[in-house]
Amino acid sequence: MAAVSDHTARSAALFDQATAVTPGGVNSPVRAFRAVGGVPRFMTSGDGCHITDVDGNTYLDLVCSWGPMLLGHAHPEVIAAVQAAVSRGTSFGTPTETEVLLAQEIVGRTPVDKVRLVSSGTEATMSALRLARGFTGRDKIVKFAGCYHGHVDALLAQAGSGVITLGIPGTPGVTEATTADTIVLPYNDQDAVSAAFSQYGDQIAAVITEASPGNMGVVPPQDNFNAFLAAICKANGALFISDEVMTGFRITRSGWYGVDGVQPDLMTFGKVMGGGFPAAAFGGRADVMSHLAPEGSVYQAGTLSGNPVATAAGLATLQLATDEVYAKLDETSATIQRLVGTALDKEGVPYVIQSAGNLFSVFFVESEEASGPIRDFAGAGAQVLPRFAAFFHAMLDAGVYLPPSAFEAWFVSAAIDDDALSRLETALAPAARAAAA
Ligand code: PLP
Repeated sequence: MAAVSDHTARSAALFDQATAVTPGGVNSPVRAFRAVGGVPRFMTSGDGCHITDVDGNTYLDLVCSWGPMLLGHAHPEVIAAVQAAVSRGTSFGTPTETEVLLAQEIVGRTPVDKVRLVSSGTEATMSALRLARGFTGRDKIVKFAGCYHGHVDALLAQAGSGVITLGIPGTPGVTEATTADTIVLPYNDQDAVSAAFSQYGDQIAAVITEASPGNMGVVPPQDNFNAFLAAICKANGALFISDEVMTGFRITRSGWYGVDGVQPDLMTFGKVMGGGFPAAAFGGRADVMSHLAPEGSVYQAGTLSGNPVATAAGLATLQLATDEVYAKLDETSATIQRLVGTALDKEGVPYVIQSAGNLFSVFFVESEEASGPIRDFAGAGAQVLPRFAAFFHAMLDAGVYLPPSAFEAWFVSAAIDDDALSRLETALAPAARAAAA
């Protein structure tokens, strides 16, 4: 029986029911609050920057469905586009115009020549790997510890997000043969990448990296790491795959590409481009993409790929995501980072805040001097986790919904206004005290 208090009674009851029929009571692990304890809140509705649970509690939402809700919840124009699409039918299994418009929007915003729509970020990275292997005729893939690319078997090794949050040591259920061709290297470590290419250069199909990692907390690339990766891939006939599922259409009109301008061979997208529906994509160089069926021989398919409702939501979201929206997101993010820093400073809590555009995370470290900038998975792992849990629950009690893990980015929406920021500021004082205790 989950712990019950007045303001969580209905969530607790639902969690008990859910646990009886669903492993851990959730359909995606980090939703379960395992890392912070307590009862996960069952939401019933969202409006702008707020979400409301079954007990009637309303929270300022700094998770945004783990990224997609860039414009906030139930944006009237997105809802109208979805309702119009639904009323015309929900799936045809044929090409539709909205798919073309969404693909054009993605191609217009990013450096990819062609794009294939899928239904989740996992599918996008899985398909990009297959395409890279099919294109190069090579087997090995390089990934970085702490980067999460969805639950693709070959990419779960030393992954971030829920894998690190739950402390799952390896990848039970994934055969050794599946990961035998995955080379896992420390992030931001150019020497390690050079060494891997010296040893396996002619066997490496691709290097895949989060464009700017957000799944071990926000750990941006340093010393032109992406440019280095693109160059070493090119020199060795491997493909450079930039995973922008989290950063794409969130950090800038294109994503992290809009910040460092490094040209990948393949890119993956998801989250924002689905407007809250299951839509994702992978795309890249025309000569590489032409290897995909039916043009080429690398097979990839999906019953609901390019679904008309999902593409309508994604298209409406991207069309509304103007330069002004990105400027507002940057400003809001900077304000929140400043408020968090001020509150923690006041209570003498050591922390490091790292950002990548409007994405940021707060690391509760042993000491700021000892931590310095966090560059990799090992650095991200050296956090004082009980401090985060105390901070998280104090924020939740005060009506602010943060990612229930110390290893996740905080997501802002364009719907956050001054009232929401004052609510946040009020919540931060007791939360900082809780973190200090
Ligand atoms: N890649 C990155 C960088 C992600 O952050 C995620 C999800 O958090 C994925 C891939 C997987 O996307 P999905 O959860 O839609 O399968």
